Amino acid sequence: MPETFDAIVVGSGISGGWAAKELCEKGLRTLVLEAGGPVDPALDYVMHVQPWQLHFGGWGDRQKMEREQDVQRRCYACNEWSGKWFVNDLENPYTTAEGTRFDWIRGRQVGGRSLTWGRQVYRWSDLDFEANARDGFGVDWPIRYADIAPWYDYVERYIGISGNAEGLAQLPDGQFLPGMPLNLAEQFVRDGLARRYGRERVLTIGRCAILTEAHRGRAACGYCGVCERGCSTFSYFNSVHVTLPAARATGKLTLRPWSVVRSVDYDARRGKASGVQVIDARTSETIEYRARVIFLCASALESARILLNSNSERWPNGLANSSGALGKYLMDHWMGWGAHGDVPGFEDRTTFGSRPNGTYLARFRNLDSRTPDFLRGYGYQGGGGRGGWGRGTSMPGFGRGLKEALRTPSPWTYSMSAWGEHLPRETNFVALDPVVKDKWGIPALRITCQWSDNERAAMRDASVQAAEMLEAAGVRNVRQHQADNPPGLTIHEMGTARMGKDRATSVLNGWNQAWDVPNLFCTDGACMASNANQNPSITYMALTARAADHAVNLMRRREL
Ligand SMILES: Cc1cc2nc3c(=O)[nH]c(=O)nc-3n(C[C@H](O)[C@H](O)[C@H](O)COP(=O)(O)OP(=O)(O)OC[C@H]3O[C@@H](n4cnc5c(N)ncnc54)[C@H](O)[C@@H]3O)c2cc1C
Ligand code: SF4
Repeated sequence: MPETFDAIVVGSGISGGWAAKELCEKGLRTLVLEAGGPVDPALDYVMHVQPWQLHFGGWGDRQKMEREQDVQRRCYACNEWSGKWFVNDLENPYTTAEGTRFDWIRGRQVGGRSLTWGRQVYRWSDLDFEANARDGFGVDWPIRYADIAPWYDYVERYIGISGNAEGLAQLPDGQFLPGMPLNLAEQFVRDGLARRYGRERVLTIGRCAILTEAHRGRAACGYCGVCERGCSTFSYFNSVHVTLPAARATGKLTLRPWSVVRSVDYDARRGKASGVQVIDARTSETIEYRARVIFLCASALESARILLNSNSERWPNGLANSSGALGKYLMDHWMGWGAHGDVPGFEDRTTFGSRPNGTYLARFRNLDSRTPDFLRGYGYQGGGGRGGWGRGTSMPGFGRGLKEALRTPSPWTYSMSAWGEHLPRETNFVALDPVVKDKWGIPALRITCQWSDNERAAMRDASVQAAEMLEAAGVRNVRQHQADNPPGLTIHEMGTARMGKDRATSVLNGWNQAWDVPNLFCTDGACMASNANQNPSITYMALTARAADHAVNLMRRREL
């Protein structure tokens, strides 16, 4: 007989860690199945390993990376320290439709991408939850800000978010630890923008899941600035040292690494999911586990892949897909369009330490008045500073001359780049590739995803607006910059099993519960019905905690 649990969680990343914690703390014997290997902070966190202690001096083995991580190495965080936390592209292939490109950046280990994420966290507002209803792109969200606000509070209080309250309707404030300070260049730009735009365009310190004070047994950040290598003081949030230990402390958790979930089993007689089929990543043995409730948290595209691969006579197009929406309405954020320039003054001052955070300027387009050129909006992330020793790799020269030049910091500069919304469109989708399979024989995904004219118009506007703002703030030598980033590279992939009000057009209801299979929940980015412009992971965490609470209430009432 297959081993049986109260709950199965697929994936142990940002959303899986939260599902594990909540379900275990509510008393459910929970099995977490993680496709990748275990991570031990004592051995695997390498934040203080210096370049000269590494074989390739921090540059990495270029030939090996070109061979095995040709997609992953396009991500800034995939380097000699943290490359082990990005997948092997040969073992985990995917294809793209002709003429399209999608850079799918993934982590396959306990903790998923919570180990390497950028930790920026911004709440969504009703502007975002009402967007689809307002302009008709995508289905209306089944929830509003009031439904999720208490769960943002709950998650933020637990993981610790630093930031400043600004009272902006489009970027709700949260439960903040003190924000990190802005440096002089950033204060200069903030004050210049305030003089010109008042409260319409407010520059603030980034809101991030990094502690500025000791919090629940974790130390405050020491500003070393290399978080994606793993943090020995546990100062940023990830599931390895925050949510999974909380789940383990209940005595209810069974965490099984090296467990690749191939499909979800469906019991046609009961009309419910009965368990999952797992392939042991090291032995290739197939194992079956059963549970009363299943949470898919394998990341947006992997959860869709599992459901598409769970096809049967009853579900020929994938489990829980009576709507036909499964795999569709894929979105990512576009990024990299903005401006930069030199900040005058402060020549006798410089920065100290490596603050692991930048600045944020919330969306100002299409709030009360409409921009004719495009729908939705964008927000800017950025930062100011002075170049120091780090310029050594890009400055010409050598010997004493170079050393002396490097002792003099460069002028203060400030740069800002936009992260923008991608409309949910049926033509952006994933499907099972008819030919290509991964190392374990599971069909790979074929991805079709492109920017539309709407996104391109917003990108252009973001560059122009950034330059205008920097000029207005008094920044000199302002230059626009543009980036030709393909979908996927912002690593905010969303959609493919969207929530909705109507079971005919969506996969999940307002509780992240599959309309067709009531004991199946999906709480990662797959559930998103639109993608706003804010970084999404805090919203996945809040939705996961909310869905877990709902599932357990249903189980207690014997309705599941
Ligand atoms: C460099 C970088 C910077 C980022 N910056 C930010 C940021 O600043 N703010 C933000 O909000 N987001 C950011 N993100 C995105 C963020 O990391 C993701 O949104 C988030 O991790 C998604 O959470 P998840 O639980 O859905 O997936 P993941 O964290 O990716 O976890 C999914 C887990 O499921 C496992 N899995 C997959 N398939 C299977 C299977 N078949 N069987 C079993 N297990 C499986 C994987 O191995 C993985 O451990 C960033 C990501 C990266 C890489
Ligand atoms: S910058 Fe802070 S959170 Fe990041 S690794 Fe260093 S101490 Fe940890």
